[in-house]
Amino acid sequence: MPLIDFTQPFYFLSAVAVVFIVVFLRYLLVAGLFHFCFYSWRPSRWQSRKVGKKAWPKHQLRKEINWSMMTSLIFAFIGAGTAVAWQKGWLAVYEDTGRYGWVWFFAAIGVAMVLHETAYYWLHRWMHHPKVYPWVHKVHHDSRIPSPWTAFSFHPIEGFLEGLILPLILAVVPMHLYAVVIYLTLMTLSSVVNHLDIEIYPKWFARHPVGKWLIGATHHSHHHRYHVFNYGLYFTFWDKWLGTESPDFEREFAERAG
Ligand SMILES: [Zn+2]
Ligand SMILES: [Zn+2]
Repeated sequence: MPLIDFTQPFYFLSAVAVVFIVVFLRYLLVAGLFHFCFYSWRPSRWQSRKVGKKAWPKHQLRKEINWSMMTSLIFAFIGAGTAVAWQKGWLAVYEDTGRYGWVWFFAAIGVAMVLHETAYYWLHRWMHHPKVYPWVHKVHHDSRIPSPWTAFSFHPIEGFLEGLILPLILAVVPMHLYAVVIYLTLMTLSSVVNHLDIEIYPKWFARHPVGKWLIGATHHSHHHRYHVFNYGLYFTFWDKWLGTESPDFEREFAERAG
């Protein structure tokens, strides 16, 4: 019998509370930091353009934070459920770094990102089906001009579906417990950067052999405005291979990048 048995209601609910605090605080910290740096601290560079701040409808940020709080709670339940699954031996999460070595410690993060990208791309395409969209994905697109706070602004159904992807990956991909923590932090960081509506990557990035495969704010802002292109999460490869990347992307990137 383990010291902490997550199948016991007390420990399960304690895990929900702890994960909720960690997920929501991390979101507030990262989004808050980017908001401060790009919209408050140095606003003059951006206010001449119709990006962010000036274009956000009244109350948008408050709604986004409320939806993100709900998403954090859903992620917390899924996180506690994942702890139960781990304790029951259903997941490939491990604690001993010697088991697969340091190369795999980091490689697993990359593998998880590629698998997550694939699951998310198809989930996202499905969520744009006209019969699904109003029930599942519209809340996220209510932010026509995204903000750092849009990062977790999902309808609970979308939050639940997105939250399931990582535990499914952990059922098959061996990942160190701390690699999972790093992965979750990268996920928050990437989501905030991609919803910033301000391009933080340099002008040469979209044509760079590595940079062109990474999604940034211009790529995802285009998706929020027009809905029909740029469905990816971290990487552009599905969009490029299946022809769903906007033909205007490189031009827009050149205009927006500093
Ligand atoms: Zn988005
Ligand atoms: Zn979408």
